[in-house]
Amino acid sequence: MVKDRAFLATNLLAACGLDAVLFTDLTNIRYLCGFTGTDGVLVVTGETSCFLSDSRYTTQARAQVQTDEIREYGVKLDGVIAFLVQTGVRRIGFEAETLSFAMVERLREKGGAGREWVPLTKEILTLRGTKGPDEIAALLEATRLNAEAFEEILPLVRPGAVEREIALALEIALKRRGGEEKAFDFIVASGPRGAMPHGIASGREIRAGELVTIDFGVRCGGYHSDETVTVAVGEVSPELRAIFDAVLEAHDLAMAHVRPGIALKEIDAVARDSIAARGYGSFFGHGLGHGVGLEIHEYPTVSPRSEAIACEGMVFTIEPGIYVPELGGVRIEDMIEVTADGCRQLTRVEKKLRVLPA
Ligand code: ZN
Ligand code: ZN
Repeated sequence: MVKDRAFLATNLLAACGLDAVLFTDLTNIRYLCGFTGTDGVLVVTGETSCFLSDSRYTTQARAQVQTDEIREYGVKLDGVIAFLVQTGVRRIGFEAETLSFAMVERLREKGGAGREWVPLTKEILTLRGTKGPDEIAALLEATRLNAEAFEEILPLVRPGAVEREIALALEIALKRRGGEEKAFDFIVASGPRGAMPHGIASGREIRAGELVTIDFGVRCGGYHSDETVTVAVGEVSPELRAIFDAVLEAHDLAMAHVRPGIALKEIDAVARDSIAARGYGSFFGHGLGHGVGLEIHEYPTVSPRSEAIACEGMVFTIEPGIYVPELGGVRIEDMIEVTADGCRQLTRVEKKLRVLPA
């Protein structure tokens, strides 16, 4: 198991009274044992850990995987069950959010009598919840590429430019700098399209006097960046300016409230109340933020329904937005790391309104 992470699985066994945990979620598998391929199973018991995969991955597994044992199977189900039978484990936890119902049924059916399958949901959610120094370093590399690529493509954001061309230029700039893959389909939403929180870049041409919301990120060493910048192309109307100011204020207030011990729903409330006080409460529908790491969206959620409490090493986004149908919208997003006495901003692009030449 990866150094300093084996205890996470051991704690899970103890906390849930399990003999073993069957990990099938590839992100959790990568986190716990280092495997970056796209098929495999990790089983952790009180005594041992075993990574199982098929012949396509045996060479890769021998180079990457840090478990007591590595096994190759012909048929996944048979390989897993053979290992469970051999170790004699009876109460086995599985990732209920990601393992398919059909697979659980097959495990139950073929796993033999006397074996109990325990669905894990909340218990597994926090597994990757706090980031270590290596993870922060990878996240910082991804945010550095974001900042460099954004400054490179900014001159393209001008009247007549097509949203999709900007998204493509950003992707190329990120990959040319060593980014592994774009973190998601970039959002470039100009003018009235800005009213769509998820306005994937379209064929629309940008016009003078519009705001453009650009939400983008890249993967480095498996870790993602996620950042949203809203810029003005020429002078915008006082109403758009007021919306921008309201979002930036909510963003800044929320960031200032982050510290260990605070409930994430309280951070959400700070931003939400501030936007409501400016009269735009009904135009901010989504949660304030989300965890980012090996996955672009992961634990914890920052929303009115969040049950998580901020703790040192957590990484999440602060991304308030206001979306007014037919008029347009603004979102400003940064990633932060919770530190001992507050937070550190990981994303670096300037968020104050930039008025680009029209
Ligand atoms: Zn984003
Ligand atoms: Zn985000």
